[in-house]
Parts: sequence; structure tokens; C-alpha cells
Amino acid sequence: MHKRKINRLLVANRGEIAIRIFRAATELGIRTIAIYSEQDNVSIHRFKADESYLVGAGKGPIEAYLDIDSIIEIAKRNDVDAIHPGYGFLAENAEFARRCEQEGIIFIGPSPELIEAFGDKVEARRMAINAGIPVIPGTPEPIETMQDALLFAKEHGYPIIIKGVSGGGGRGMRIVRSQDELQEALDRARSEARSSFGNAKVYLERYLEKPKHIEVQILGDSHGNIVHLYERDCSVQRRHQKVVEVAPSLALDDELREAICQAALKLMRQAGYSNAGTVEFLLTPDRQFYFIEVNPRIQVEHTITELITGIDIVQAQIRIAEGHALSDPEIGIPSQEAVQMSGYAIQCRVTTEDPENNFLPDAGRLLAWRSGGGFGVRLDGGNGYPGAIITPYYDSLLVKISTYATTFDQAARKMLRTLREFRIRGVKTNLPFLENVVTHPDFLSGQYDTSFIDTKPELFI
Ligand code: ADP
Repeated sequence: MHKRKINRLLVANRGEIAIRIFRAATELGIRTIAIYSEQDNVSIHRFKADESYLVGAGKGPIEAYLDIDSIIEIAKRNDVDAIHPGYGFLAENAEFARRCEQEGIIFIGPSPELIEAFGDKVEARRMAINAGIPVIPGTPEPIETMQDALLFAKEHGYPIIIKGVSGGGGRGMRIVRSQDELQEALDRARSEARSSFGNAKVYLERYLEKPKHIEVQILGDSHGNIVHLYERDCSVQRRHQKVVEVAPSLALDDELREAICQAALKLMRQAGYSNAGTVEFLLTPDRQFYFIEVNPRIQVEHTITELITGIDIVQAQIRIAEGHALSDPEIGIPSQEAVQMSGYAIQCRVTTEDPENNFLPDAGRLLAWRSGGGFGVRLDGGNGYPGAIITPYYDSLLVKISTYATTFDQAARKMLRTLREFRIRGVKTNLPFLENVVTHPDFLSGQYDTSFIDTKPELFI
């Protein structure tokens, strides 16, 4: 594949991830282009880019960022070489990736074929099985009838988890603990999957009790070279959504770490994966790990991997999309051994969710915004400043705090200090809840799994 320099980059996204990508591009001498919806008229991300253009005029706040025709039109009118989709919105839309390709615009991500394959969780499981990596017992196809479900339950027992084939963001999953619950759960999961993902197909997996969520960051180039950037522990979840992430995981010894990272590499190498991606696993208390899915895009929690490896993943994505090999000086990863990790990093997602009101997202004008900071603290945000209006239209993320230190304990102390330095008035936030998480003895000793939040009422006080 020959190289093509990116001079003008459009980010088809908003908020903190748009700003994160603009920063990476600016450091590479690339001119940055924002798009913004009518509702985002005064959002900071548009002012952090060199140029910005209104997208999807007359459309809804979300629809504007999903308006493929308008985005392509803006890109073509403004000589854009490449589009970075961020996460969410069009990041896992194969049709969008394909349109970019057809229009001669570089899509910064894997091929449309791989986006499609990994977007179908049943297909992803099939790929994992073919690559010889362990998967959770599950149905090999989407299930059609109650009979299929009963058959699976008979063979594997309860509990079972029902998942949408096109699911994401922790939505549309249902845990079934006995046969009496099965029919209703199935109906609900189907209708939820249809309304959330436009695809009512569901499949079944054995539900694992008290696993840890461990995921491996991968970088592959378009020449067949691929490396891992070690793992993140994302077990602190609420309703299957990540809240606090840690890298590296306290739960892995060198041998288990190597086994999981090698399994991730095996799958992605076999898939011919290029660009950044994440392979997600569940790890059971008896130290067995199982594949769950691949996220073929940059993830919210990529920051903590950057902190422990020193590798700018977004810049690597851009260089890979230009056709560079991992070993080129522009990326500088000639071998797996060149990826070294040191220290510990923790990320907290500060949101406008109100812990006292069932984590309902709050909206309104920020009356006060004083930010934490200092040595070992990285902030990825953009929406927060005194007077900013937080609209109810988009996800509730205000700022991501990532701390880094030589030991996990120090990283946790930095996090607590930073959380306490923040003053946000005018909207409710989850700051007090996050403080409770990062001071909890089970968190500090690494003794937590995906049930941590749900089983600790003391976190909500
Ligand atoms: P999504 O794509 O919606 O994020 P995932 O398949 O990645 O869904 O799963 C999200 C979370 O749901 C996992 O981190 C885990 O906490 C839980 N989960 C998913 N599958 C299982 C399972 N088979 N057993 C136990 N927990 C599961």
C-alpha cells in the first residue's frame, strides 16, 4: 500500500473525543476541521479546530452527526483528506467507512468489512472460535424461537445472558436466572434491541458470575504488522457500562497477562486487522478468560494505555491510515518488545449523572467550574467552563480524569486529590460517587469484579 499524507483532517464527532483528535493532529502539523450541529453552536469542540462547519441543518442533535451525506459533502467541499470518526456516532458504521473510501477520503479505522464483521457479535464469536481463542459457551447463531433458547438452557444451565447481535454500550442485555423468566426476557431483549440498534436479533451466552472485564489494546498497520499495548481493567461498571478504568490490571500475573495479550493478537492477526482496536475478555475467579467482543475503534479509556506506554494511540491511528508501517519512525514501534509499560494509570469518567437520583443525567448552566490538575493528572474534556450550557441531547460525559504514578496506590491518591479539587456547580455530577469508588478498600486492593458497584450500597452515600 502506498503512502498518502494527510494534510486536512475532519473529525466526525463532538465533545472531548473531537478535541482529543484535534490535539493529536495539530501536533502532527495537520489542519483540523470540526463539524457541529445547530445545538452545538457554542460547544467548545468547534473552536478547538482550525475550521468548523455546521452539519445537518434542520436535523435533530444526534441525527446531525449521523448525516453521512452532509458530512461527506462538507469533507469534499473543504478538500478533506481523511475523516476520524471518534467513538459512538458513525465510528462503527461500515456504510460510512465505505462511502469515505468511494469518495477518495481516508477513513481512520479498520476496513468496512471488518467493521461489519465485528459489529455482528455472533460473527465476532465465530472469528474468535476460528482463531482458537476461548469464547463463553453461547449459541452459534441468533436464536429464532423459544425452543432454541430452551435447548441452550438445557445444555448449559442457568444463568443465561441474552444479548443483541448488534448490541453496544451495555444496552439491551438481559440476565435470565430460571426458565420462568425466559420468555418475557426474550421478548423484551428483542424489542429493546430493535429500538436501540435497529436489529431485533439476539443470541445467548452463559452468564458468568463475578468476572473481571479485561481488554487488550491492539495496533495493526496495513502491512500485516500488529502489536498489543497491554491491558485495561474495566470491571468497575454500572449497568454494564464502564465508570472507572485501570491499566495495567492488578489481577494479572505476567503469565496470565501474556496469555490474554497473545490471544488478542491471534484473533486480530488472523482477521488482518489494521488501525487501533480493542479485544474484550471476561476473566473468571478461577483465572479462565473468555472472549466477548472486539471494538474496532478508539475507546473512551484509551488514555490510560497511553499513560503507561507513552504511545499516542490517536497519532498512531493517523499514521497507520497514511500507510505507515508500525516500524516507521513516524510511529516508532519496530517490534512488540518496543512496547514497554511502566507505572499505573486510572481513569474516572466525570458525568452529569446524579448518584442520588438513579444516575439521571442533569442539564443546565454551569455556575462554577474549577478544575483539578497538577503532576500526573491528564484531563480530556472541553464542555466544562464557567457559564457553559450542558444540553440534555448528548452523552453526559463532562471530563475524563486520568492519573498516572509509579504505583497503583499513588495513582489512586492522585485521583482522589483531583476529584476533590474539582468544583462544579449548576449541574449535579457523579464526583462524590467517584470519590467513594477510588477510596473503597476493595478497589484499592484490586479485589473487584463487574458486580462491584451493584453490591456496594456504601458507594452511593
Ligand atoms: P457491549 O457491547 O454492550 O458493551 P459487551 O459484550 O462488551 O457489551 O459486555 C459489556 C459488559 O456486560 C461486560 O463487561 C460484562 O460486565 C457484562 N457481560 C457481557 N457478557 C457477559 C457474560 N456472558 N457473563 C457475564 N457478564 C457479561
